Amino acid sequence: MLKYHSTRGGESNKSASHCLLQGIGSDGGLFVPAELPKLPELEYLSSLTYSQLAATVLHLFFNEFSYETLLDFCQKAYSTNFAPPQLANESNKKQIDNEVNDQLNTETKNSAEEASAQNPPVILQKAGNAHFLELFHGPTLAFKDMALQILPYLLKEATIKQESNKEIVILTATSGDTGKAALEAFKDIEGIKIIVIYPKSGVSPTQRQHMITQEGQNTFVLALEGNFDDAQNAVKEIFNDKEFNLRASQNGLALSSANSINIGRLVPQIVYYIWAYLELVNKKEIQMGEPINITVPTGNFGNILAAFYAKEMGLPINKLICASNQNNVLTDFFATGTYNLERPFLPGISPSMDIIISSNLERLLYHLAEGDTDLVCNLMNDLKNKKQYTLPTELLAKLSSFVAGFASEEETLITINEYYKKYNYLLDPHTAVAAHVYEQYKEKSNDSTKTIIAATASPFKFAQSVAKAIELESYETHDEYSTIDALAKTTNLETPAPLVGLKNKPILHKQTVTKENIKQTISQILESN
Ligand SMILES: *Cc1c(COP(=O)(O)O)cnc(C)c1O
Repeated sequence: MLKYHSTRGGESNKSASHCLLQGIGSDGGLFVPAELPKLPELEYLSSLTYSQLAATVLHLFFNEFSYETLLDFCQKAYSTNFAPPQLANESNKKQIDNEVNDQLNTETKNSAEEASAQNPPVILQKAGNAHFLELFHGPTLAFKDMALQILPYLLKEATIKQESNKEIVILTATSGDTGKAALEAFKDIEGIKIIVIYPKSGVSPTQRQHMITQEGQNTFVLALEGNFDDAQNAVKEIFNDKEFNLRASQNGLALSSANSINIGRLVPQIVYYIWAYLELVNKKEIQMGEPINITVPTGNFGNILAAFYAKEMGLPINKLICASNQNNVLTDFFATGTYNLERPFLPGISPSMDIIISSNLERLLYHLAEGDTDLVCNLMNDLKNKKQYTLPTELLAKLSSFVAGFASEEETLITINEYYKKYNYLLDPHTAVAAHVYEQYKEKSNDSTKTIIAATASPFKFAQSVAKAIELESYETHDEYSTIDALAKTTNLETPAPLVGLKNKPILHKQTVTKENIKQTISQILESN
């Protein structure tokens, strides 16, 4: 059975279910697999449906669970919750023919299985020189759905393995997006409750509307008087409150978080890079075995780390291109080996990448250092005490498969404009950052390796910035809802289903809390249900 260690050495040889439930190591480190598994033959993988591929990869990491169980989870997670547009190309036509044949030949087939067999949750779209891997066709229109939609199943299975009969309470503070993605993922899942706390004055009108109209018997959304830091601190305080946890435990409850450093968030992200590679082969863009580059718009370093894992597992990847926005701490790190926190925090048009501490980088350091946890501890202590660390030179040399760059706000808007005008392809600001950095790299390096760019959010999710970038008429006088409508009309794209009718949905969550009464309110929620 594959075991896990903490990057800081405080926990070793732990089971996957332990790591899934605990989320973060008790020493503050991140859980990493004791060794990275190797992929089966690519030819074999190319014969699988998306769900079968996902179950195969998940089983390599979580072999404490059976393949059949994982396949069932993947089929549930990646079927009707994702609605990528149908592409009218050859391979699709073939699929439709098969579908007709299947319907003639097969009498009984589980409908979720069928849906996931025929329609992968992601698609690959070519624009200019690059292939965009669209990861944003889930319920909250961003790539985090790809992992969050399956996480509840993994957590529930983990409680069974840990022989815990406790009900899981997911408690999350959100600045807008993660909270909604978690609510969508955990709604109406038996044995789990989810409580999301958002800063009353710190989210956009559509983000608020998304959360307060959330359906599901087990969902609770609280508006906190204060900012995001207040919300986060309130949640941290509850997690650290021994008495609160003890009482919860006595009532048959276990607090948990759906935090992005959970190993259960990372592994499902490896799958789509493998799928995209095989799709390039399928489309005859590359030969089987030919290396590709992957560009990822990066914040917390989770998504690009998944691509690094895919490479280490044997997927033919040449360069991993790490794209940052104006908060370019990672660009500097890859150039110099020094990670320096002392810089201004610049909020901008790609907010999900506005990050100064990229938590998942710690996992990369651990792998580069070949499991030298003392070294990782020293670097992390430097970061805490001196606000910076510098890699030893032999480790810096090992970063050669990474390329890093960044896009300014201006460059991001120009990129959206150019891709729309030149290729009739609409980018969201996060994906545009990646497209800019890819083009910059291509020009400088003359590297013509076929490249996949992770497209992490729907342009409709950031309609105001996109409208500005493509110079949509009078966008400034529109509210967000009318901008979405105008954008759909101008571009001839369909408004994604999760945004349709949002304005008029019934409000189901009205409760407001303060720093003073939040703990009491949460106790009441837990005791009354
Ligand atoms: C979270 C997010 C990112 C950054 O991903 P990391 O895994 O944190 O590096 C990029 N784009 C979008 C739209 C996101 O939501």
